[in-house]
Amino acid sequence: MLNRRLFLLFASWPAALLRAKSAASARGRLRQAPLPPALVTPSGRVMALEGDDATQKVLHDPRLKDLDFEVDGALLAPGRFRIAPIHERALFVWRGGRKLVVTYWCATCSIRAWVPGPCQCCQEDMALDLRDPALKDTDPSD
Ligand SMILES: [Zn+2]
Repeated sequence: MLNRRLFLLFASWPAALLRAKSAASARGRLRQAPLPPALVTPSGRVMALEGDDATQKVLHDPRLKDLDFEVDGALLAPGRFRIAPIHERALFVWRGGRKLVVTYWCATCSIRAWVPGPCQCCQEDMALDLRDPALKDTDPSD
């Protein structure tokens, strides 16, 4: 029994180390169309951004253009970053010294979403709602 437990302990190590090594974040000004989405650092270095379809929709939201943006995910190569899946809430804007998570809010229906577009209930365009990541998803917008 002890041996088995030790084996499981050691077997779980490489995956944990790999996760710790690959997890990263990147910050810069959000560059948008006509060029592919990327972060541009103050020194002018460009970090191309990849992500799932929902994440791509956020990256193309013109309301976020040129904002001080931060993403969580993994560095694939120098200058190439893959953003974590949309359900991991990996997209942030820095404003007034605060790191705010990117969400969308319909005040009519009190529905929150993480992708821009029409409200799933009333079909009105949802408002961009940058908010404290510590708030619960169901808390209303302030
Ligand atoms: Zn609505």
